[in-house]
Amino acid sequence: MASYGFLFGCVFSVGAFYLRSPTKKSIAPSSASSPTSPSSASSSIDAAISNLRTHFGDRASICLSTDATDLESKGFSSWCQHAASLPSVVAFPESTDDVVAIVNAARNHGVPLLPFAGGTSLEAHWYAPRFEGEGESGETRPSISVCFERMAEILEVDEENGMARVQPGVGWQDLNEELKERGSRLFWPIDPGPGACFGGMLATGGSGTGAVRYGTMKGELVLNVTVVLPSGKVIKTRSDARKSSAGPDLTRLFLGSEGTLGVITEATLRLVPRLEESVTTVSFPTVEDASKAARAVLYKGIAVSSVELLDEVMIRSINQASSQTGSSSRQPLAEQPSLFLKFAGSSPANVKEDQRMAREVVLEHKADPATLRISSSPQEVEELWEARKVALWSAMASREGKEEGKGQPRAWTTDVCVPVARLPDLVRRLKADVAEHGLFAPIVGHVGDGNVHAIFVYPDGDSEELAAVTESVHRMVEWAQQLGGTCTGEHGVGRGKREFLEAELGSGTLGLLREIKGLIDPEGVMNPGALLPPKGSERRGEQGSPLAKHAT
Ligand SMILES: Cc1cc2nc3c(=O)[nH]c(=O)nc-3n(C[C@H](O)[C@H](O)[C@H](O)COP(=O)(O)OP(=O)(O)OC[C@H]3O[C@@H](n4cnc5c(N)ncnc54)[C@H](O)[C@@H]3O)c2cc1C
Repeated sequence: MASYGFLFGCVFSVGAFYLRSPTKKSIAPSSASSPTSPSSASSSIDAAISNLRTHFGDRASICLSTDATDLESKGFSSWCQHAASLPSVVAFPESTDDVVAIVNAARNHGVPLLPFAGGTSLEAHWYAPRFEGEGESGETRPSISVCFERMAEILEVDEENGMARVQPGVGWQDLNEELKERGSRLFWPIDPGPGACFGGMLATGGSGTGAVRYGTMKGELVLNVTVVLPSGKVIKTRSDARKSSAGPDLTRLFLGSEGTLGVITEATLRLVPRLEESVTTVSFPTVEDASKAARAVLYKGIAVSSVELLDEVMIRSINQASSQTGSSSRQPLAEQPSLFLKFAGSSPANVKEDQRMAREVVLEHKADPATLRISSSPQEVEELWEARKVALWSAMASREGKEEGKGQPRAWTTDVCVPVARLPDLVRRLKADVAEHGLFAPIVGHVGDGNVHAIFVYPDGDSEELAAVTESVHRMVEWAQQLGGTCTGEHGVGRGKREFLEAELGSGTLGLLREIKGLIDPEGVMNPGALLPPKGSERRGEQGSPLAKHAT
């Protein structure tokens, strides 16, 4: 595994790692077993591959692969805690028609289909399913991974209407690069993990640091999606109009569906104006104080585009990492809970005024004036915000090479989200729990949304510490649900959190979700194992969430 000190300086090269350029593929005979049982030999996957080989014809060598590296990259991510589970074959469609052929082959032969875009999701979203009832150690079901690296075209940028049309393999960073190169005054504001692509972003319904201003992938910025349904039919969910009252919103049925309802092959997005930016960082005696100050800034109507909270453990990690690598000219930050505020406005004067008002508000809310830093140039914006951007790598670097005989650090990034004023309560419980169990979990939160990531860092291969981390993560989810919140603010459910869904949604809502799945995908080929818990595996918190109590 790479050194996190090295990664610290290379945040933006990660996208390039995930988005590999198209390469030659080879197809080898498969040794797949039956789709219904591990023991009964079946030719389902071979028949499906044979269909696909016929469909792709001359293109099979580039559009189908069983190369070990391709299979491994579609069945394991070091960001996930689940055991690797590889597909049998990877298909690389080049068009919606190709996707229709892949879906038909999968459905006709009862083979699971696993869409894969940037591969940055954190909850084993696209891992191959295992035979039902066999748990994590059961045999992997033969399956087809569908990778969109050959459907990575920006189909249209419509500057006049403020829209872009993209294929699922386009990365959000690539779209912004392209807009910049064209000299556009517009950009795409939702910024999940480096390397994430629109197919996965739409299917997880995630967000990023700008959600407090621009919303999430489930918001108004997604106008419509084109979807290949499990039946093989192709639909576009609605028109390109800014708003539409024509019936229920089917676009949003697919946002957050995690590849379980169909394959998204195109999306029409709204772009937003690129604005003047500035950054303020400031520290507080406690997380409660910082959180109250953040709410006061928001409720004053100040035009912030991000309000991020970093606890003192995270700030310490950032200071240590930057002093070790010497990669930053920034002064060390005060090792106290801190807010990182980003302002965005139509002119430097507007931004300056917002910054002035925010300064007043935070000082009224116990901010330490000696720690206040306000950017006064684009270079300072970059410098101050850089500390926020390197938080994850810094947290991991904190444990790198520190304990003799232990493995490289791995991270488990939690993602609970609660009503904003309840965040301090959650963070207090979490920090006490982490301390009690001797764990290491610096915190970074999108405090403006009530979304908090505790980044549990543990040594690879240390099963005892991993077990303690797992328990702590699960307690955190249950507390969030009891506080009226969710197990996931933006990363999605995948295979990691599906057991918590009933406690959160209630059996009625989960039942409806199952009915919708049954209606759209009666053969159950679309990403089985993601999102919906296998029946009987649901986990109920001691008290359950208020929503579940109300709904059941
Ligand atoms: C360092 C790091 C930081 C991160 N920060 C954030 C953050 O701030 N906010 C946030 O929201 N997330 C964050 N994430 C998580 C991740 O980036 C997001 O979940 C992202 O939206 C996933 O996009 P992807 O292209 O990588 O999807 P993938 O991992 O490829 O897939 C995700 C899901 O989408 C499905 N899918 C993919 N393509 C399609 C398609 N065409 N049709 C139907 N289903 C499809 C897959 O089957 C899977 O279920 C972070 C991850 C990392 C590693």
